[in-house]
Amino acid sequence: MTNKIAVPFVSFKPLENELKNELSRAFDRVLNNSWYIDGNEDNIFEKGFSQYIGTKYCVGCGNGLDALMLSLKALNIGPGDEVIVPSNTYIATALAVTYVGAKPVFVEPDIRTFNINPDCIEASLTPRTKAIMPVHLYGQSCDMDRIMVICEKYNLFIVEDCAQAHGAIYHSKKNNRDYKTGTLGDAAGFSFYPGKNLGALGDAGAAVTNEEEIAKKIRAFGNYGSDYKYHHIYKGNNSRLDELQAAFLSVKLSHLDRMNNVRRLVAKKYMEGIKNPDIVLPFIPDYTEPVWHIFAIRVKNRDSLERFLNDRGIGTNKHYPIPMHLQGAYKDLGFKEGDFPIAEEISSTELSLPMYYGLTDEQIQWVIDCINQWEA
Ligand SMILES: *Cc1c(COP(=O)(O)O)cnc(C)c1O
Repeated sequence: MTNKIAVPFVSFKPLENELKNELSRAFDRVLNNSWYIDGNEDNIFEKGFSQYIGTKYCVGCGNGLDALMLSLKALNIGPGDEVIVPSNTYIATALAVTYVGAKPVFVEPDIRTFNINPDCIEASLTPRTKAIMPVHLYGQSCDMDRIMVICEKYNLFIVEDCAQAHGAIYHSKKNNRDYKTGTLGDAAGFSFYPGKNLGALGDAGAAVTNEEEIAKKIRAFGNYGSDYKYHHIYKGNNSRLDELQAAFLSVKLSHLDRMNNVRRLVAKKYMEGIKNPDIVLPFIPDYTEPVWHIFAIRVKNRDSLERFLNDRGIGTNKHYPIPMHLQGAYKDLGFKEGDFPIAEEISSTELSLPMYYGLTDEQIQWVIDCINQWEA
């Protein structure tokens, strides 16, 4: 290979270099205060994030999985209950259901959007179904008007998994207004894992809701079941957002819209530049304005394209190579290959391209050129 430009799948460096001073000041502030759990930084971030998303309450948690799990718990979902989750998602969505003692029920996605297909939900409902967990996968909102109609009809809760959708917009035709994902259900869980659109410098997460009762319960469940120091009303656990991560997150939050717009620009370049007829580009329904956590293409001969790109210095990834129903962790559910053909099709054809703040025009063009050169 003569010409080769390195394009790592992900790099935090461009953003970190830019925010180094701000992040260092946040660190100094926390160290000077000598206060590390449940303090001012936590309050400031929670206020800022709920304001940004557009909910009344935000409760910082240890990570995104806990934010989802504590939200389900706060809605009294537990043993004997079933919760609808998409068959195509990161396993954390289903594990949150499992951890509260309920049963995850997988529903197939729409192959074009990768997100849960509202047409397939009703057939999976039983008298035990208590909630639906729409996952706004890859940063693109689910078809929420249709999901909300089903939830109203069957009296189900909605717990949104927003781990990949910080700032994504949903345009409701029903109400003719824009919503941020995270405001469309009873509660929503966000992850601030470092690689997410809003990432901490470690593990962190948050739950958001408009209901004071739910917010209080989530906070109590994540703090040893305590509503007041040394008073324990629930058998809770420990999942809190620490001051240091909260301080870093406030810095990053102030840049989130700018970062998301950069991702949108990268996506636009990929969408316009990639012309290879063997590649299926992302489909963007008119009800969503995605934040491009992941730029997911589909391609029949995926491994060949992946090798071709890797050989030319381009990092790629698969989200996700094994669908949940075929994971060892869910052997007990008794599924086999063929049970969720759309999720399986996505697992075997999806390829994720580099997508982050700091990609140069030259790098983006190199990715486009290489994909266009590839022959299936
Ligand atoms: C990252 C992620 C989670 C879990 O978040 P953590 O902070 O890693 O616990 C949950 N759901 C989805 C869809 C995710 O991508």
